[in-house]
Amino acid sequence: MKRAGDFSCPFHFIFSLSPDFLDTSIKIPYKFRQNKINLMIMLFILSVIIGLAIGSFLNVVIYRLPRGESLITPPSHCPNCKSRILWYDNLPILSYLLLKGRCRKCKKPIPWRYPMVEGICALFFFLLFWHYSPSISINLFFILALIKALLFVSILIPVFFIDIEHQIIPDSLSYTLFASVVSISGFQGYLIPSLKGAAVGAGIFLLIFYLSLIFLHQPGMGIGDIKIAAGIGAFFGWEMALLAFFLSFFTGAVIAGVFLLLHLKQMKDRIPFGPFLVVGAFITLFFGKNIINLYFSLLW
Ligand SMILES: [Zn+2]
Repeated sequence: MKRAGDFSCPFHFIFSLSPDFLDTSIKIPYKFRQNKINLMIMLFILSVIIGLAIGSFLNVVIYRLPRGESLITPPSHCPNCKSRILWYDNLPILSYLLLKGRCRKCKKPIPWRYPMVEGICALFFFLLFWHYSPSISINLFFILALIKALLFVSILIPVFFIDIEHQIIPDSLSYTLFASVVSISGFQGYLIPSLKGAAVGAGIFLLIFYLSLIFLHQPGMGIGDIKIAAGIGAFFGWEMALLAFFLSFFTGAVIAGVFLLLHLKQMKDRIPFGPFLVVGAFITLFFGKNIINLYFSLLW
């Protein structure tokens, strides 16, 4: 039942971060309740600016981490002509459009991945900020939940692109995800559910790893997949993690089928599984609860 002062998030229908959050009536400051439009505009600007800035940094991570380069020095430069990229050519999305997707000096095309990562990051940050915003001024628990979700997407976006390009998932990303998710969950009082989720995640993929070693005489999973699955399990808890992994296998099978049909890949080719883990995790993050509800409504 709705009470006076309840704030309903317009994205409730797509969110499933934690079932309890959505049913909690949250008292929000009077002035915010007065004008939802202002709040939305303010949040939109704030979260998009932060999301674009983080997205810009994630591009540095995606390029430099698998190449073993420092994330901090040297400052941004064109990988082709090595010329320094000045701040006005380094503005997220905007500079890409102004430069028509080419380096100012050598005119070599800038990969479309750059504006895409910035755009995805800004969108996800906006959705997450909006979802948690009504409670930010009230409850440390929700602030932690927001930080946990922002870290989750900020680590999985680079995992997606690095695994596609290099077929590796850097340990630094898996360990950071696992350590941050488990410790924040601990502060929230969710340490045991989080560890259970990690155990289920790592367990399923370890099992696949060993079974395929025994029966197919080759590893069916990378060690990197096992480590990142532990972090995804720790984030969702084991029930939602199972949905995330199921969606990963499902999208993986569909995409692999399409590749085989179109002769883009052959049976012997390895397709990295990390990107599908990320896709499954993001679908679960934003739509998981709806999928579960739909599933049960079809059963009964
Ligand atoms: Zn250049």
